[in-house]
Amino acid sequence: MGAVTHLSTLLPSTTPTDLWIGTHLRPARSGATFGVHNPATEEVIATVADAGVEDALDALAAATQAQQAWAEVAPREKSRLLSEVFHAVQEHREDFARIMTLEMGKPLVESRGEVDYPNEYFRWFAEEAVRWPGRFQQAPSGSGSILVTRTPVGPVLAITPWNFPLAMATRKIAPALAAGCPILVKPATETPLTLLFLGKILSEVLPEEYSGLVSILPTTKASEVSSALMADSRLRKVTFTGSTPVGKELVRQSADNLLRHSMELGGNAPFVVAEDADMDLAIQAAMQAKMRNGGEACIAANRFIVHEAIAEEFGQRLSAEMGKIRCGNGLDEGVTLGPMITRKQRDKIASLVDEAVEQGAQVVMGGNKPEGRGWFYPATVLVNVPEGARILREEIFGPVATITTCENLEEGVARANDTEFGLAAYGFSSSLDGARYLAQNLRAGMVGINRGAISDPAAPFGGIKQSGFGREGGTEGIEAYLDTRYIAL
Ligand code: NAD
Repeated sequence: MGAVTHLSTLLPSTTPTDLWIGTHLRPARSGATFGVHNPATEEVIATVADAGVEDALDALAAATQAQQAWAEVAPREKSRLLSEVFHAVQEHREDFARIMTLEMGKPLVESRGEVDYPNEYFRWFAEEAVRWPGRFQQAPSGSGSILVTRTPVGPVLAITPWNFPLAMATRKIAPALAAGCPILVKPATETPLTLLFLGKILSEVLPEEYSGLVSILPTTKASEVSSALMADSRLRKVTFTGSTPVGKELVRQSADNLLRHSMELGGNAPFVVAEDADMDLAIQAAMQAKMRNGGEACIAANRFIVHEAIAEEFGQRLSAEMGKIRCGNGLDEGVTLGPMITRKQRDKIASLVDEAVEQGAQVVMGGNKPEGRGWFYPATVLVNVPEGARILREEIFGPVATITTCENLEEGVARANDTEFGLAAYGFSSSLDGARYLAQNLRAGMVGINRGAISDPAAPFGGIKQSGFGREGGTEGIEAYLDTRYIAL
């Protein structure tokens, strides 16, 4: 007990570094801690408690207790508390933004956006908390009535990634609470501080009698902790956002206890530009779809597939926009591209680019790994990327745009769909026929037509094929935390 934790003076002084077991903050039982790095400077900015299996089981016990008390809370009151969380997060916007920039690297302006967007999930699900779906109908036989109601699934384990430290968790916490489920959150090892700060806000808003509703469990022993929780029959659901291989492993593990699961996995989004596309719009949207979060987004445009008649102009104009990007420490004024999350991730991007270049791709700009401190990679544009290149098959997760050409829309769409992933896809055409063709034929869970930004808390977010299943947000988002109960009357 009582492990010594460290906190950089750059971080808000109220940033917690211990575990939230419900509304109670405490060190890991083992006393273990681990360091959190600033990817811009490589310095350790905090050490935080490192949860073990015993801490996770404490949190599960608290969740099981809280569930009963929370079930008795009227939907309107649940809604009011979620609204309060929304306002409290908004009041701490600058604290959250600073923490995110320091532990994840994105520029402050983007971190502020990442407070506003994820916080909307608290607002949206505060509204959904009073609208649980249900149905009443007469049995066709005439022998009685069919009443369909919903009940909370039960305690949930949420495992989240580092790229959007707040958003990927609020998309799970808000609907779980609205549906009456307690939730244990395991943040990414790289970015635990944002959620520890959210834990502080939740502990201030949620009354003590529901103490175990939300626990925040940073750990370096992800697999050990999640396996123990999933093997415990009190847990009823696992919801995961992260890479496809880890998602598959969790689905396998969840089979033993037949847990409900939602899997938001990797992507390889195509961005198809028809000959008749509005070029100004396509370039503006390309920058949004490619460069949001420095390209470290699961819905980031990975492959620009452009009609051959306009590909040269598209490449030149996209490069001109990419040339305006200023790479640096996200805390510095005017920076629009921060570092990548880790050295490993940065080196993976560099190797994808180097390999494509060896195979014949041409670098229009960027493409070289800078020397010095910080895990930076520059905004990069590659053209004439050969079809077989790994960079077209794998998620880049970085600020690299690859451009290939197509002879017509049919070929562009066929190539767009030639991937094992199916999270997001983008299509650009100014004609009704072209837009409709793209909308109908791009195969992904989310399709943006003449739009580069598609995320919306009121819309169902999720993928098909190797990008997973389940939806977050929208009216579908709460269903993921509800079981259906049929009552024969
Ligand atoms: P990751 O799969 O390595 O890690 C995600 C989370 O899982 C982290 O919290 C990590 O600690 C944990 N984890 C890792 N191994 C585990 C194990 N064996 N058991 C239990 N937990 C484990 O992914 P990442 O590198 O953090 O994130 C990038 C990936 O996430 C990309 O593939 C990206 O596309 C995907 N992503 C998907 C969405 C979506 O909504 N579909 C959103 C954001 C990111």
